[in-house]
Amino acid sequence: MDPVYATSIFVLGLAFGSFLNVCIYRLPLGLSVVSPRSACPACKRPIALYDNVPVLSWLILRGRCRHCKARISPRYLAIELGGWPTLAFCAGVGFEHANSGEVYAAGRCLNSALGH
Ligand SMILES: [Zn+2]
Repeated sequence: MDPVYATSIFVLGLAFGSFLNVCIYRLPLGLSVVSPRSACPACKRPIALYDNVPVLSWLILRGRCRHCKARISPRYLAIELGGWPTLAFCAGVGFEHANSGEVYAAGRCLNSALGH
């Protein structure tokens, strides 16, 4: 597997995990997953784009809000990281073992988007 492809899967996987976090937090509350921008649940200040980088931001801020230092659950980190194997699986890593047509279709889409 070439490194550019592997890196793309990794980055997309983290972004996918990050989006999952948004869904997990907002959908049960009946909120939109598109807008507004993410905010700290404690102080409600919007989270800047540079503080919203999956995994990296959590590590740099040591799992705390930049402004009020409220703890941000490591669950967010875990789910962001979990997006990676999920996406890698969909992209066809271990694809031989998958029988699901939906996984196959998602993998085909992703691979063609990445030029593979
Ligand atoms: Zn805060």
